[in-house]
Amino acid sequence: MKIVLATGNKGKLREFQQMCDVEIIPFSSLTGALEIVEDGETFAQNALIKARTIYEKVGDDYLVIADDSGISLPVLEGAPGIYSARYAGEGASDKDNLYKLIDALKARGLKETPAYYTAAIAIVSKYGEYVVHGWMHGKVIDEARGEKGFGYDPMFIPAGFDKTLGELDDEIKADISHRSKALALAKPIITMLKDKA
Ligand code: IMP
Repeated sequence: MKIVLATGNKGKLREFQQMCDVEIIPFSSLTGALEIVEDGETFAQNALIKARTIYEKVGDDYLVIADDSGISLPVLEGAPGIYSARYAGEGASDKDNLYKLIDALKARGLKETPAYYTAAIAIVSKYGEYVVHGWMHGKVIDEARGEKGFGYDPMFIPAGFDKTLGELDDEIKADISHRSKALALAKPIITMLKDKA
């Protein structure tokens, strides 16, 4: 059984490849560019929508993996949440989204507030569908610090640290991140499904 990853993101492809020790194919090399409407109400639903859409295109010789992720602030009732990638509008850059969230804190007079990242990974194959989650808790601050990571990382301080993910080394993030936790759960499921085939 071949494994397809429902992402155009090279970084995600590399992370999955390292974790899974099998060849992972980006879906675009099989289906070409594809517009997928992510209209679910949760990270899990959106990850499943992506995985099912690709699975229907590539057929049941394949195991399809998709992920969806974002940051949530209890003070904003969970926003940006599933809208993290387009918080500052359709086509917004990572920087636009980051500064919109910083502005939202400033508008409320908050220097910092609790926040958490969520990653959902969906796995779809002829043997069924699975979704696993990973979380990283911490807080966000009202400024951007450091250049590492991506997205909201320069304003996010993980629990137990006093620096942002923009300042901390990539290896530290890889150890504690929402995505690596979800991947750790996805790996044995992928191995189990591969062995069935
Ligand atoms: P996705 O590619 O649809 O999962 O988009 C996730 C969005 O959530 C990204 O565009 C980022 O804005 C944000 N996000 C998810 N994971 C991270 C992370 O590890 N660091 C920073 N931002 C993240």
